[in-house]
Amino acid sequence: MTTIALILAAGHGSRFDKMTPKQYHQLDGDIILNTAISSFIKSEKIDYVQVVIAEDHVDLYNALVKKHNKLLPVCFGGTTRQESSYLGLQQLQPLFPNKVLIHDAARPCLELDIISCMIEKLDRYKAVDLTVPVTDTVKFKEGNNIITLPRDQLYATQTPQGFDYKTILSAHQNALGSSATDDITLLLDQGYEIGLLEGSVYNNKITYQGDLPKKMRIGNGFDVHKFASDAGDHFVILGGVKIPHAYKILAHSDGDVALHALTDAVLGAIAEGDIGDHFPATDAQWSNVDSAVFLRHACNLVKQKGGIISNVDLTIVCQKPNISPYKVSIQNSIATIMNLSSSQISVKATTTEGLGFTGREEGIAVYAACLVNL
Ligand code: MG
Repeated sequence: MTTIALILAAGHGSRFDKMTPKQYHQLDGDIILNTAISSFIKSEKIDYVQVVIAEDHVDLYNALVKKHNKLLPVCFGGTTRQESSYLGLQQLQPLFPNKVLIHDAARPCLELDIISCMIEKLDRYKAVDLTVPVTDTVKFKEGNNIITLPRDQLYATQTPQGFDYKTILSAHQNALGSSATDDITLLLDQGYEIGLLEGSVYNNKITYQGDLPKKMRIGNGFDVHKFASDAGDHFVILGGVKIPHAYKILAHSDGDVALHALTDAVLGAIAEGDIGDHFPATDAQWSNVDSAVFLRHACNLVKQKGGIISNVDLTIVCQKPNISPYKVSIQNSIATIMNLSSSQISVKATTTEGLGFTGREEGIAVYAACLVNL
């Protein structure tokens, strides 16, 4: 009994990137194609892996794809998915496979138990489709006529799709010239009964850059500002909120030490230096400026990189003023500046029990952390 995985990697993926085909892009420290291949190589139930590539990708393939004794010499695909699939299946003939799993290289997050279950199910069916429920409402449009399809009768198809080798090879021979977007369709057109296997939400197809799974990135920030020595009817600004205090903060800007620490945390999460790199204290245009400007800039950089801020957490350290009555106002103020909901902002306060410079009421320190999905 010989079972082979046929991986279709001949597409040019121009919706993803005009220059490098998506299967050769990095994902979690390796290229997408290597990750797709590795699931099948790891499976004890797969004897060989055949990859079908575009002829003009051969240099990329040779340079980037890891060698393995299960990996058969590469073969070249055609101009459509169906052609590539057929060319790959023909390539396998000398190995007399019994079962074949046909998989798109753009689905790199395949779980091993799907491979095992599919191979097992192929003992009962000539073909097995991998299904996921449709969560959007789907409509059928023909001219001006639009019909809402009954969602409970719909499913979406993933790959791999499993086949009895001889059955799928002859289905391709019989369907020459058509252009099916998957292989099961050919068997359905020819009246075969299909087995169904539940797919996985992790087995997503990568079509656009935005389909790449995001990674969590953490940043932390720390800042200290000193109180001026002349007492009076002053206030400090923390997180954009004015808090009455006998001493004002000495600073180049508005001295919002909370927003400074937070700006550094946001910049840290995306490895974009620190607040001083972006807003040098030597530059007069930043004197007495509202520190919200710094934080908004850092948030915009996250957005420009395609990142999403998940949450931030602040600890304000000072003996005086008492921060507790202002924590909710600070939380809401930061949420407004960062365009996040208040539930994503945590504001905590502590004293140092009279110890150190904060204990001596010489200044305020703030620690901040920020999590970004990028
Ligand atoms: Mg500062």
